[in-house]
Amino acid sequence: MLVSLNAEIYELRLELLSTSNIPGPELQIQKGELDQKLSLRIWMVLGEGAVFVFILLLGFYAVRNTIAKELDLAEQQKNFLLSITHELKSPLAAVKLQLQTLKSRDLPTEKRNQIYDRALNDSQRLEKLVENLLLVNKIESGRLPLSMVKTNVSECVQTIANETFENEISNGLLNLDIEEDIQSDLDRMALESIVMNLVENGLKYGLGSTVHVSLKKSENQMFTLAVSDKGQGIPDNEKQKVFERFYRRGNEEVRQAKGTGIGLYLVKLLVTQHNGTIRVENNGGVGSRFVAEFPLK
Ligand code: ADP
Repeated sequence: MLVSLNAEIYELRLELLSTSNIPGPELQIQKGELDQKLSLRIWMVLGEGAVFVFILLLGFYAVRNTIAKELDLAEQQKNFLLSITHELKSPLAAVKLQLQTLKSRDLPTEKRNQIYDRALNDSQRLEKLVENLLLVNKIESGRLPLSMVKTNVSECVQTIANETFENEISNGLLNLDIEEDIQSDLDRMALESIVMNLVENGLKYGLGSTVHVSLKKSENQMFTLAVSDKGQGIPDNEKQKVFERFYRRGNEEVRQAKGTGIGLYLVKLLVTQHNGTIRVENNGGVGSRFVAEFPLK
């Protein structure tokens, strides 16, 4: 409309010029100026139009992204609620059943001990879940001051593995390759949580393969903690997403492994608080390798 309006004005001005009694050469100059003005105005209108269209598209893109993020979050929260209900309910139900069995029947000592162990395992699983949730909550609200102390990281990782994964080590499901005497300032509880979450994931999603933990000094005054398995692996497009809060691969209803999608998020928060980085890569052709790098200081 603006272009045709400008063209109409141009025509009218031309008419006006031709009816005036301006001498020939002057008339040509004025006509030339009119032509120039017209094309300048058309370009101006087109330029403004293009800017408006660009801003409109940008706005459309931003709104679309925000909606997609909101939908994603809603889906994750739904999945989280589903999994957390299940994760809280099943160990509680199991412990209840085990206690009822112990109470109602006179069982031989060996059987009783087995049931005690299972009940203990289930309550530990529950405790770990609640601990992780509380930790995340504390970190997010800035209420978790890390207590950074000079630590022999090598010994610390070895002790955590020996104490928590004694059975897995003796069954050959977990092996450790730890460089001696790596020293750094860090929060031991945080290190414990990082190692435990990564190793547990390796055992959970490793399809029975041996989980490999390696601790080594690396370049630029850093040290690297890597946990790898030869399990199902993580496709490239989800390698970042697995560190998001509540993110679990696949659909909650069809997932076999227990979990809530909080572990790797917590690990990333803790690693970041130590000025470190964490990423996941393919472990050769099969499985995944989680690599956390920390400054040596
Ligand atoms: P959870 O194990 O409770 O689901 P995590 O935050 O620890 O939560 O892990 C998020 C998701 O990342 C898991 O649901 C799983 O799909 C994927 N994942 C984590 N570790 C591994 C691994 N070692 N191999 C393959 N997939 C993994």
